[in-house]
Amino acid sequence: ILQVNKLKKSFDQLQVLKQISFDVDKNDVIAVIGPSGSGKSTMLRSLIHLEEIDGGSIAVHDEFLVNEGIYSSPKQIKQITSRMGMVFQHFNLFPHLTVVENLEIAPKLLKDGNAQKNRKASLELLEKVGLSDKADVLPAKLSGGQKQRVAIARALMRKPDILLFDEPTSALDPELTGEVLTVIKDLAKERMTMIIVTHEMDFARDVANKVLFMDNGEIVESGNPLEVLVHPKMERTKKFLNRTS
Ligand code: ATP
Ligand code: MG
Repeated sequence: ILQVNKLKKSFDQLQVLKQISFDVDKNDVIAVIGPSGSGKSTMLRSLIHLEEIDGGSIAVHDEFLVNEGIYSSPKQIKQITSRMGMVFQHFNLFPHLTVVENLEIAPKLLKDGNAQKNRKASLELLEKVGLSDKADVLPAKLSGGQKQRVAIARALMRKPDILLFDEPTSALDPELTGEVLTVIKDLAKERMTMIIVTHEMDFARDVANKVLFMDNGEIVESGNPLEVLVHPKMERTKKFLNRTS
């Protein structure tokens, strides 16, 4: 449902993405791993048009967000990116809105649905992530793990076809990562299509059906978790895995 072809991106002189290509099929859970600065966040941000790429193509359901470096119309871009949800490392909740309002804002921004329906959908999603009792509190009152679960619920409000995660547990204390990973595992069981940038190798091995190893703006190696994480072929992958384990 997502095709990425020869993605190129530079910041000034620095080439951050060098001809990245991969496909995402429906129900895929793709773990993206790689050292700091390898371009993982830039790649993810490009998919939802938080970064503009310099060359290559991105298509969702065969509709181009960008085709050989040429972007579609703003209306089409909005339509295509509205099918994707993103969860960031630092939650990015609105601090002045309550938890339930943080969820309701997503369809409001898209001018979608009515208030009653949105409230109902918000409360259902809060229940799904185990935070029904926190609907009316401000984000400042929540733990990091709870904030991230709210962020996941918010991303689900748009009923995305693909959910993108950029190191969803990296900002959390170790004892709080489990509750967030559990929510993501539950989504995997429901067959949500996801791309997850993560440093949690055990988690990647458990939930992903494909793993991409990025280094220096390239996909060095990809395959199933066994191939990439347990029996890597490339020297750079082996080095990276040895360093982090
Ligand atoms: P990390 O694991 O630390 O999150 P990453 O793989 O996500 O790293 P990116 O954040 O994509 O890496 O960054 C790739 C490179 O691009 C880095 O060298 C970074 O300094 C650079 N970079 C990222 N964003 C910008 C920007 N807005 N302007 C200039 N350089 C940038
Ligand atoms: Mg990053």
